[in-house]
Amino acid sequence: MSVRDEVLSANEKYASNFGPKAELALPPSRGFAILTCMDARLDPAKYAGLSEGDAHVIRNAGGRASDDAIRSLVISHKLLGTSEWFVIHHTNCGMEFFTNELMGDLLEQSLETAELGPEGFRDVGKSPGSPAGREIDWLTIADREQSVVDDVTRIRNHPLVERTIAVHGFVYDVESGRLIGVPAATAAGAPGS
Ligand code: ZN
Repeated sequence: MSVRDEVLSANEKYASNFGPKAELALPPSRGFAILTCMDARLDPAKYAGLSEGDAHVIRNAGGRASDDAIRSLVISHKLLGTSEWFVIHHTNCGMEFFTNELMGDLLEQSLETAELGPEGFRDVGKSPGSPAGREIDWLTIADREQSVVDDVTRIRNHPLVERTIAVHGFVYDVESGRLIGVPAATAAGAPGS
């Protein structure tokens, strides 16, 4: 079965038992939002106990507070009423294994998938690349806890983020499934007046 068929078959099963989820309200019923990494090992619904309709989950590479993540958070609060936000990065994040410079080099050589070896990412592709990757800030992570502090601080200080919102910082441990608090981040994200 192709991946497409697998997805459609899983969806058929899911929709056949949809039941009362048809009546869910648009605003998240538990009033919070999670910003986290797209890493396939992380399932916020499971690690944070979410059901459909509970919370907003905003995901990108690294769980970084990019302009677009902040766009979603501002909508989450201003239009849909969330009042508590979690920034959750994680151990063994792919964003720790490259730099803007390396990503620019890799993409300039080829657009094909690079290999991840013990020495980091290495290009093996033969098709042409593009220098356009050098224009992008890939928001890589050099220091895991500091990246959580930086993102919580950036959100906290954003002019469109209301001071009453609590912003918490955590690292998810991919080996234990636990959320580990980053006290400096949560202190930086404490609600003010
Ligand atoms: Zn990650």
